[in-house]
Amino acid sequence: MSTSSKINTIRTRFAPSPTGYLHLGGARTALYSWAFARHNKGQFILRIEDTDVERSTPAAVQAIMDGMHWLNLDYDEGPFFQMQRMDRYGAMIDKMLADGNAYLCYSTPDELNQMREQQRLKGERIRYDGTWRPEAGKTLPAIPDGIKPVVRFKNPASGAVVWDDLVKGPISINNEELDDLIIARQDGTPTYNFCVVVDDWEMQITHVIRGDDHINNTPRQINILRALGGDQPVYGHIPMILGPDGEKLSKRHGAVSVVQYHEEGFLPEAMINYLARLGWSHGDDELFSRDQLVEWFDSSNMSKSAAQFDPEKLKWVNAHYMKQADKGMLLADLTERMAKAGYSTEGGPALADVLDVVLERASTLVELRDEANLFYKEVSAPAEELQAMLDDTVIAALKDFSSRLDSIELNVEAVGALVKDVLKAHNLKMPKLAMPVRLLLTGIKQTPSIDKVIVLLGKAKVQQRISAGLGV
Ligand code: GLU
Repeated sequence: MSTSSKINTIRTRFAPSPTGYLHLGGARTALYSWAFARHNKGQFILRIEDTDVERSTPAAVQAIMDGMHWLNLDYDEGPFFQMQRMDRYGAMIDKMLADGNAYLCYSTPDELNQMREQQRLKGERIRYDGTWRPEAGKTLPAIPDGIKPVVRFKNPASGAVVWDDLVKGPISINNEELDDLIIARQDGTPTYNFCVVVDDWEMQITHVIRGDDHINNTPRQINILRALGGDQPVYGHIPMILGPDGEKLSKRHGAVSVVQYHEEGFLPEAMINYLARLGWSHGDDELFSRDQLVEWFDSSNMSKSAAQFDPEKLKWVNAHYMKQADKGMLLADLTERMAKAGYSTEGGPALADVLDVVLERASTLVELRDEANLFYKEVSAPAEELQAMLDDTVIAALKDFSSRLDSIELNVEAVGALVKDVLKAHNLKMPKLAMPVRLLLTGIKQTPSIDKVIVLLGKAKVQQRISAGLGV
């Protein structure tokens, strides 16, 4: 039974394990939990699940925080660290034992292996056989010497666990399919599923939104929660993200850490928009602001099927946000990226003017940087490509254009008029002249409008690049 209706304040959480960077899947889970809390004017909590001491690192904690910070996913409480809550878990395990909802199990690893082997041979489901499970009228084996027990949860033997998943719809799991989970190891440390339950309960989480790789844990967690007397939160399990090839998204598909997307020139607004849309929809809307997302993100419209990551679409979204972005911010970013890459702007046009021109075409801040650099670095037109565009008429037109540049005032209109004159005089069509000009001036074929490029470069550089390219 869901009791969410009793609770006024919606409380969600993001509960990453700090064993690596914040990848796209994690960031999306965080985003959905955040957006749902914000939509409902509720609270969003960050909890670091660091009980796997072998694999958890402070660097990974930092990477998660950096990722959240970059995406501007602010949290109202936390970060809570599970390793700092061991006393709470210990107290709850004692309570479970005292209430008869958990029991000590002295089965040795050897015995468990044998038991599993038997089950395998008989074609039965592999599960703990309940040797140490107390039942009315049952006599338990004598406690062996020198064996430290684990604590097992006494899972209900019958009935079913039912929940109405926000994403997947109604789910029902028979208790017969669940065995008695270990909740504390021999050394007394609590296990993963137990900590999650205690935390979700004590942190008063009303909605658990997480990846569907956790869906098998949910019925176990619900049973433990019920045994503790907690209210069942609402669960929503979002399907995983697949790579463009339909395989599970991984390093093979390029950047997987959200912060790496920052390095590759994506804006956080674009990332938020793209990730939001990757597994959730609001009609046909593809581009929407953070505020719109918050306004629209109720629990409906999360997709049941796995989403496919599309790097081209991400770029398209990013290009949109770049065009909308504040010029001052873009210029500061561009200046920093140029400097970091060792690209000097000395002796070239003002970077702000270059920015205006290259912004039209770039879809990442890195592309912006590299296109901007065409106005400063030494360029050389790829010889073969250039040769294929040149014939006597084109060469004559290029020389003519170059020398007549001296006679005009340098602005976009005048350059445009001169290009037209030269085309007419040599009886050429626009691409015949424009393509080699692009190549000569920038070394690449696709550039912003050629008039603007010429104005920015200035007469001397244009003439010098044309004559160097033509070898005259
Ligand atoms: N710590 C788990 C993970 O990083 C998430 C657990 C949860 O959301 O319940 O996969």
